[in-house]
Amino acid sequence: MTEIQREEFKTYQVGGYVLSPAGVTAVLLLNSQKEIVIIMTEEAKEKCAVLGIYSKRNVFDDMFDGLYSLQHRGQESAGIATYNNGQINLHKAMGLVCDVFKGVNLEGNSGIGHVRYSTTGASILENAQPLVINYSKGSFAIVHNGNIVNSGELKSLLEKRGSVFSTTTDTEIIAQLIAHEHIKTDNFIEGIKNAMNLLNGAYCLTILHNEDIIAVRDPWGLRPLILGKSEGGYAVASESCALDTLDMKTIRDIKPSEILVINRNLESYTGRKEKTSHCIFEYVYFARPDSVIDGKSVYEVRKNLGRTLAKEAPADADMVIAVPDSGITTAIGYSDVSRIKYSEGMIKNRYCGRTFILPEQGQREKSVRLKLNPIASEVNGKRMVLVDDSIVRGTTLKRLIGILRGAGASKIHVRISCPPIKYPCFYGIDMQSRKEFIASKKSIEAVRREIGADSLAYTSLEGLIKAIGMPKDKLCLACLTGDYPTKEKQTKLKL
Ligand code: SF4
Repeated sequence: MTEIQREEFKTYQVGGYVLSPAGVTAVLLLNSQKEIVIIMTEEAKEKCAVLGIYSKRNVFDDMFDGLYSLQHRGQESAGIATYNNGQINLHKAMGLVCDVFKGVNLEGNSGIGHVRYSTTGASILENAQPLVINYSKGSFAIVHNGNIVNSGELKSLLEKRGSVFSTTTDTEIIAQLIAHEHIKTDNFIEGIKNAMNLLNGAYCLTILHNEDIIAVRDPWGLRPLILGKSEGGYAVASESCALDTLDMKTIRDIKPSEILVINRNLESYTGRKEKTSHCIFEYVYFARPDSVIDGKSVYEVRKNLGRTLAKEAPADADMVIAVPDSGITTAIGYSDVSRIKYSEGMIKNRYCGRTFILPEQGQREKSVRLKLNPIASEVNGKRMVLVDDSIVRGTTLKRLIGILRGAGASKIHVRISCPPIKYPCFYGIDMQSRKEFIASKKSIEAVRREIGADSLAYTSLEGLIKAIGMPKDKLCLACLTGDYPTKEKQTKLKL
């Protein structure tokens, strides 16, 4: 067992489940050297987008367009479920939205959809969403974005009560829990409320229950979920860019703890309350810059981060370039304040996936060369500020710096829009082990040497909070500070 793991898992029992300070579930095994090995359960690795549409007309085409605009949040599988004449119609498959739904049409005026990212082990069709649950009170379909941190505990308790699981996702645990609580209370909304009392972690849910769409946001509001309206009906989506694509007017964000029933009308209920903790990483990296999350434009936040970086970490350079795409807006902000011209510097091959969300390290490294190519005439002999959103493992940046030097860059000053990432995320962004983070063991100077930059600076924590423009106590900063919003709130389970 490594030092890092010991630090994260203070108490453990071999062969059983444990909870880290953040409540994440792991399984402990002994290897041949009698060392304790921690295996994170597969269900602890989700990062996706959800969509739900209620309309006067057939929703399939809009579902397709909406999911297409959310493709950046997950590229491994996609699925749509619609409700028509008392039946749930379902189509899901591995692959990109445009491939998965080729030649497919599902009838129905309400529907939910999903795009999924997972790790390799869990990247199988059985785990693709929507999931359809059949039980004694009927059936419903569900999609989920986020990650539950007490899934192992909930799963074993549900199994003791007779639940049988057919996937390794925490989404099925949520679905079975809702079904279980529905049977107990005889009321679907009460069932969801009861389930919320037991769930810890991040979950934005969209549920297709009869013709109703039910949107649920976890009490911390960790992942985004937003409501839009058109003449034809309503939609909820992980990001507002999907509402724009559907030509819908954004109404508002689903509130933390809210259960919103959408049909011809809207009915809002409130589940268990917790301290709001919106994920900062949605603004820094994950969301599309044309989205607005919890009232803040992602584009503006990224530009603010660049302006802040230029003030906090000026550099003597001829040009500012970005690691495309998520660094571009920040680089423009840096250029605005520093008055150093912004240049494209390198071109991205848009026909391959995002490096960070490819599941295996080997694939990630190979993809850097496939994906980014410098414009030699632009960078040759130039001193540059290279702006990126974050450093996780540092391998991509190191390779990129090598490529830029190969193209003749004379100085490379790296500026990062997010403070050093040192702690794992258990809430749905795939950063699960502290071993992955170059900054968790190395000083800024050591990281600079490792990646081969001439200078390296990160936005300060205060600068990041100011750039987002929300009070610090409304944000999750756990991957930067180690202060997890769910750690002291382990619910007593009474199923
Ligand atoms: S730990 Fe980091 S990435 Fe995870 S939800 Fe919190 S801020 Fe977001």
